[in-house]
Amino acid sequence: MSYAKVLCVGLVGVTGHVVEVEADLAPGLPAVVISGLPDTALHEARDRVRAAVVNSGQRWPNRRITLNLLPATMPKFGSAFDLAIAVALLGGSGELPLLPLERVVILGELGLDGTVRPVRGVLPMVAAAARAGLHRVVVPVDNAAEAAVIPGVRVRAVDTLHRMVGFVRDGTPLIEPPGAAPAIGPDGPDLAEVAGQALGRRALEVAAAGGHHLALFGPPGAGKTMLAERLPSILPELDDDAALEVTALHSVAGLLPAGGRLLRRPPFQAPHHTATAASLVGGGSGLARPGAVSLAHRGVLFLDEAPEFGKRALEALRQPLEHGRVQLARSRGGTEYPARTQLVLAANPCPCAKPAGDAYCECAPQARRRYLGRLSGPLLDRIDVQVTLPPLRAAELMETDASGESSATVAARVAAARRAATDRWAGSGWRVNAEVPGPRLRQPPWRLPERDTRELRGRLDSGSLSARGFDRVVRMAWTIADLDGRERPHADDVREALQLRMGDGA
Ligand SMILES: [Zn+2]
Repeated sequence: MSYAKVLCVGLVGVTGHVVEVEADLAPGLPAVVISGLPDTALHEARDRVRAAVVNSGQRWPNRRITLNLLPATMPKFGSAFDLAIAVALLGGSGELPLLPLERVVILGELGLDGTVRPVRGVLPMVAAAARAGLHRVVVPVDNAAEAAVIPGVRVRAVDTLHRMVGFVRDGTPLIEPPGAAPAIGPDGPDLAEVAGQALGRRALEVAAAGGHHLALFGPPGAGKTMLAERLPSILPELDDDAALEVTALHSVAGLLPAGGRLLRRPPFQAPHHTATAASLVGGGSGLARPGAVSLAHRGVLFLDEAPEFGKRALEALRQPLEHGRVQLARSRGGTEYPARTQLVLAANPCPCAKPAGDAYCECAPQARRRYLGRLSGPLLDRIDVQVTLPPLRAAELMETDASGESSATVAARVAAARRAATDRWAGSGWRVNAEVPGPRLRQPPWRLPERDTRELRGRLDSGSLSARGFDRVVRMAWTIADLDGRERPHADDVREALQLRMGDGA
């Protein structure tokens, strides 16, 4: 036999697609031709596969070898095809009987010495195999735990091409994946550890309940970072679909924790302000790496000292925040990653970062405006909740025993508020209040009675509140009503929402 076919999976974005690796061996000058839109990594695969085959003690067929990866129209990136190519080639040359590999998906990169190396994105690849009705997969041993997360799939692992050959030829058993990792307790810091800061806590709770983006301004030491880090702890756990999406993104990034389990907690990403645009939105050659905004998908993207981020980096976030996904231009077809994230940014009120009212701050009002102005275009326009936290007084800091409510208590209120919003917007496609367009809230039946919006309209007329700011306040008022268990917002809710804006003019 001079033809063989083996199954593998390629990734387009974070979605796997089954790929058939065909090998055809014909008489003629020894050569290897790969077709089916391979990228540079696949050309390198040719050299890796040859070395791995020879160094595993197998005979390299000195014939004209044609390798074809189907479907040809699908762009293929990365090194996960190596092992399948080697097996198909040995099958085609008659060295291996491929019957044991019927309907088995094979994933893995080969080292020159024949070791099988882990690859990124195994979880979405195995998920794709399962979707295609293929329930047996062979993966690199370092990816076994991750692969075993997908239910209904029989996972076996390999460490070397030699072992793979032994399995196909003689039935030598492959490696069993480790047992499921024990469930881990709630991770991350707890709100109970935050003393004082009532305004900040309320802003955090409203942001969590309504899915609103959040901006925290205030002097160093006001607790901005402490609060932001605790937002995931009061957000609802991810449901099955979301958990799979989030875990798949971390798999593609090669950032899954060892042990293998679905990520159930909303992720938290806090890139440093020196981060490049590429590290925020993703990129790189070969299989593109998701950036921080995608790793924060269904979770929280925290930009500490936000005005210090580069202009290009902040600009790059505009499109993902607007569309909930990142489109990366590639030489061959684009790659798209989901990026529906909740943005939290923190900023000092001025470049020198001295406490407010501090005698040492000599920043001119102009300098202060310019500093925060760096945020206005791309980001601040999208942020509903904007509060300025007061400096913590020493007395508040000392109250560590009489600390605030725990994350679990707040999370229960957030969950109830989200249920109320989901019920209200059922059928409209919006899950949280932050997604509801402003005009919708100004029309019946959602329009608030005039007596409840008198102050707001007054500010609108006097020009101290923009039309967009008006919509934001009303949107937050709905979230506050949801949190407090009211059917509709009252004047008090509107008033509190107004307080959750920094200044009035935004
Ligand atoms: Zn200053």
